[in-house]
Amino acid sequence: MKKKVRITLVSIVCIYLITFASVNIADLKVGFDYDDTLSFSTPAFRAGKASGEEPYSPGYWRVVNNSFNLEKKKLVPVTIALGYKILGFDVVIITAREGYGGEGLQRHWRWLAKEFYFERNKSEILKRDRFVAFFGDSDSDITAALGAGVRPIRVKRSPKSDYKGKYHPGQYQEFILPFSD
Ligand SMILES: [Mg+2]
Repeated sequence: MKKKVRITLVSIVCIYLITFASVNIADLKVGFDYDDTLSFSTPAFRAGKASGEEPYSPGYWRVVNNSFNLEKKKLVPVTIALGYKILGFDVVIITAREGYGGEGLQRHWRWLAKEFYFERNKSEILKRDRFVAFFGDSDSDITAALGAGVRPIRVKRSPKSDYKGKYHPGQYQEFILPFSD
């Protein structure tokens, strides 16, 4: 290998290690909503509906939370989350779903997320630690981030999602992630 190339490679590795160590020592985290942010999860909600369980009952949530194999990962947001993880950030997923039967789902995302919360009050979790940003598709994700003093990033919802409520990208002058739908 040429000397110049070797020095460049060593520099890149050093910069990476210093970044990783600093982010780790500072205990920095980045938050992601789950439905329509990291995962196109409409098929799981459809499975819940089709199960005949009372909507939003524990049985319904058990079906939804165990139908993750029907869901589709969203490429751009998942890649960005992985990039943060590689830089040393703790990736934290916060979903407003109820947690009934959610252990499998948490395990399914273990490769990416260090923590996975079922919590309606997302601000509460964002206030607890040092979050550099919170990514979400719904208006309530943006307001939860703003309420906690965390930078909000809007992820675009897929037009194919069954969920149409609380979606006004740019309403809070937040950054909208391109190609994220
Ligand atoms: Mg969502």
